Amino acid sequence: MNDSLSLPAGQWPDLQPGWVWLCGAGPGDPGLLTLHALNALRQADVVIYDALVQEDILTWAPQAEHIYAGKRGGKPSAKQRDISLTLVELAQQGKRVLRLKGGDPFVFGRGGEEAQTLVQHNVPIRIIPGISAGIGGLAYAGIPVTHRDVNQSVTFVTGHDQSGKTPTSLNWKAIATGSQVLVIYMGIKHAAQIAQALLDAGRPADEPCAVVSSATTKAQQVLETTLAQMATDIADSGMEPPAILCVGRSVLMRQVLDWQGMIAGNAPRNLDPLGRGRPAEAS
Ligand code: SAH
Repeated sequence: MNDSLSLPAGQWPDLQPGWVWLCGAGPGDPGLLTLHALNALRQADVVIYDALVQEDILTWAPQAEHIYAGKRGGKPSAKQRDISLTLVELAQQGKRVLRLKGGDPFVFGRGGEEAQTLVQHNVPIRIIPGISAGIGGLAYAGIPVTHRDVNQSVTFVTGHDQSGKTPTSLNWKAIATGSQVLVIYMGIKHAAQIAQALLDAGRPADEPCAVVSSATTKAQQVLETTLAQMATDIADSGMEPPAILCVGRSVLMRQVLDWQGMIAGNAPRNLDPLGRGRPAEAS
């Protein structure tokens, strides 16, 4: 691979002075950036990034000023309104502004709010989607977010709302009965309450669950458990945010699809975890 990662020839958009591009950085692994994100990093005068963005990624924007807009090391987080207004000010100063957010900017990331403020201030924008942790992070753990034998729908849920509590506005009964697979963001601190709400709504105690923390990074950890055991197992494991919870039988597929484990030399634990029968003959 060419170290400079030259973009293929073609019509790549210019990040013009006075514009803000709201861009997803993916869940962590820099290889999961999009080419549009790379193109943006190379042109930006200023990059404003969140805690979930791996700082390695910023090495692709050595020319830019890097502004940290997240909460880390006990420092208070920048207020959402301040971030949006900082973006407006930088654009009005004629900067090429790249707003880099973890995962996808429009998935539980307040990207919509920032974009709305920019438009309200007549700042031109471009949106660059990213791989969301609830899809790409699970894929790195060998868990397909949909699998034909398991689910025809998937529900993405946030485990806490603006107040930081488990969202009481959510109808957990409807969520529990609405789809076979639930993918819960920001849920690790409230895992006990979430699991209880799902059990109360009739999800089975032995339903397979997975917790994937720092997915796609070198610090990735994966816990396989059940709904009834999840909160205890999380506490015992010492796992910390950021983490995705996945509830549903697709978690069993990790027994055959833990590709990172296979790279590390482990044999798959079970070639047919859903009991579909013998592998199809290769023709
Ligand atoms: N916009 C982001 C989500 C932001 S909300 C996205 O699309 O992925 C923040 C939550 O995302 C975290 O609390 C966690 O639940 C999840 N998350 C983000 N990055 C993650 C990672 N690398 N591993 C596990 N969970 C992650």
